[in-house]
Amino acid sequence: MLELIRRLRRGPPLDPQLWRAARDANPWTRALDPEREQQLHALVERFLHVKTITPLAGLELDDAQRVQLAALCCLPLLRFGAEGLRGWSQLLVYPDAFRVNRSHVDAAGVLHQWDDELIGEAWEAGPVILSWADVEADLAEPDAGFCVAVHEMAHKLDALDGALDGTPPLPRAWQREWAADFQQAFEALARDVDRRRRTAIDGYAAEAPEEFFAVCSEYHFSDPALLRRAMPKVAAHLERFYGPSPLARDAASTRVRKA
Ligand SMILES: [Zn+2]
Repeated sequence: MLELIRRLRRGPPLDPQLWRAARDANPWTRALDPEREQQLHALVERFLHVKTITPLAGLELDDAQRVQLAALCCLPLLRFGAEGLRGWSQLLVYPDAFRVNRSHVDAAGVLHQWDDELIGEAWEAGPVILSWADVEADLAEPDAGFCVAVHEMAHKLDALDGALDGTPPLPRAWQREWAADFQQAFEALARDVDRRRRTAIDGYAAEAPEEFFAVCSEYHFSDPALLRRAMPKVAAHLERFYGPSPLARDAASTRVRKA
């Protein structure tokens, strides 16, 4: 009975060959220690059980690619756990960047309409949408500071407490500390962007506190050394929240670089 309950929670077991292929093709999962790999494996089984992955616009996805998408989406949940999958059911995947219509009525009552080209999107209480071409680009260049799946999952974690504000659900004392440290770093970045100064991390992070959290999350996985140099307090919070970045060099080499 206990085994049945465990199965229902995790989903049916994943074909071990598929898992090994996905793990080996993914620089982040390849770098995990056995314990964290096992945790990710359980999250991926759960993900594939509770989420529907729908390719759009002529894209076709085989089982290995579906496992790969699940693995990338579950990477930010290694410490937070399967609770981070709550509140949505659809992963939509476009072959490439996709266009969305935007509209906004300004304070004067004038309707503005425009098209945005996106590589990923997370609706507050709806699907996660990804561009497959950009997922592949992230896997091909894992240390370039980008990971669109991590970015969108950060938005999903952020939204879990009902407010998309750059703060995921945390114990109260930590949340206060997080909010203060993130706000300070966000405001400093926004000032630099306003003054057209070169910024260490992508200026898109200055758009809003929730984008700051999502972009910094990408750096945590994709260029943790840069994040630690640019924003040590933010980097420390993210390391505590996500667990150490699979791409983090050991402490000794960091010390050498600092000297
Ligand atoms: Zn975003």
